[in-house]
Amino acid sequence: MKNKKEMRTWLDDLNLDHPLVIAGPCSAETEEQVLKIAHELKNTDVSYFRAGIWKPRTRPGMFEGVGALGLQWLQKVKAETGMKTCTEVANAAHVKLAVEHDVDLLWIGARSTVSPFIMQELADALAGTDKIVLVKNPVNPDLALWLGGIERLHNAGIKNLGAIHRGFSTYEKTKYRNIPEWQLAIEFQNRFPDLPLINDPSHITGNRDMVFDVCQTALDLNFDGLMVETHYDPDNAWSDAAQQITPKALVQMMIDLKIRKESDPEAKFNHDLSNLRAKIDVVDNQIIDLLAKRMQVADGIGVLKKSKNVAVLQSKRWNEILGKMVLQGEDKGLSEEFILKLFKAIHQESINHQEKVIKG
Ligand code: PEP
Ligand code: MN
Repeated sequence: MKNKKEMRTWLDDLNLDHPLVIAGPCSAETEEQVLKIAHELKNTDVSYFRAGIWKPRTRPGMFEGVGALGLQWLQKVKAETGMKTCTEVANAAHVKLAVEHDVDLLWIGARSTVSPFIMQELADALAGTDKIVLVKNPVNPDLALWLGGIERLHNAGIKNLGAIHRGFSTYEKTKYRNIPEWQLAIEFQNRFPDLPLINDPSHITGNRDMVFDVCQTALDLNFDGLMVETHYDPDNAWSDAAQQITPKALVQMMIDLKIRKESDPEAKFNHDLSNLRAKIDVVDNQIIDLLAKRMQVADGIGVLKKSKNVAVLQSKRWNEILGKMVLQGEDKGLSEEFILKLFKAIHQESINHQEKVIKG
C-alpha cells in the first residue's frame, strides 16, 4: 500500500483537527444507559459512539450483551445526537444485523482476529461494503495474524479499513491488563503506513488511572486516534468497570493530552534532531559490537564446559547475574521490565551459542 501522505483514507475525509476519538460504554446495558452516555458525549471531540452489543466474555455466566435489541438503541443515538455509531461483530449474522441497523463502523475483536476461520467468515460477510472496518490486534502478540486479518478484508474488497491496538495478553502478571508491546504496533504501522491506527487504552490498562498515560504514549507514537470506554457510572458498569472513565473525564483528558506534530520545518530543529539521531546510530553500532563480544566469550565458555562435560545451563549463576543487572539498571534509570527482557534474550542467545559449540 502507498504512503500515508499519498492516500486519502476515510479518516482524512472526516477533516478532523484532532485525533479521532471513539467513545462509549464497553457494553450497551439499557436504552437509558446508552442514550444518557451518548448525550453526555454529544458536542465533544467524539466522532463515533461505541457500545458492545454482543460481548465475548472469557468465562460463561458473565453479561454477554443485550444482543440485536441494542442496535435499535444505537439508531436512536444517531438520530438524537448526530454521532456515528460502532459495535463489535464476530460472525456473519452480526454483520447482517449491524448493517441492516445502519451501524457506521464495525470492529473485529481481539478474540476473533486470532482465528483465520472467523476472519474469513467476516471478510465474506462484509465483502464490498463501504462501512469502516477496524481490526483489533489478536490476543497474542502475533503480528502475522493481525496483518493476515487485514489482508483477508482487503482481498474481499473492503476499502475503508483500519486497525486498533488493544495490547496483548500474557501469562505473567503485569501492571497492564494487556501489555502494549509498542514495538509491535510500530511494526504494524511500518507494514501498513496508510492504514489508520487507533489505540485502545482501556483494554491495554484495565485501569482508569492509567488510561491518560497510555493515550499520551500512543499520540507520541503518531497513532491516528483513540477508542476509550466511557460510562457515566463506571464503577457500576456491567462489564469492564475498572477501566471505564466518565464522559467528563474524557473531555478533560482530550484537553490535557499533548497532540504532537509529525515534524517541523524549522532548520535548527532538524539539525539538532539529525545530530541526536546520528549519536543513536553510533551507540546502536556499539551495542551490536558489545553483544558480538559477549557471544565470543560465551563460545569460549562452551569450549571449556565441553572439555569437562559440564551442563550449559547453570541457573544459580544466571539468577545472580539477573538480580545484579536489575539493580544496576535501576541505578541508571532503566526499568526492571526492560532489563529482564533484555537479559533473558541475551542469555538465550548465549545458550544457543554454547549449545552450538558443545554439539559441534
Ligand atoms: C471491547 O472493545 O469491548 C472488547 C471486547 O475488546 P477486545 O476485543 O479488545 O477485548
Ligand atoms: Mn470492554
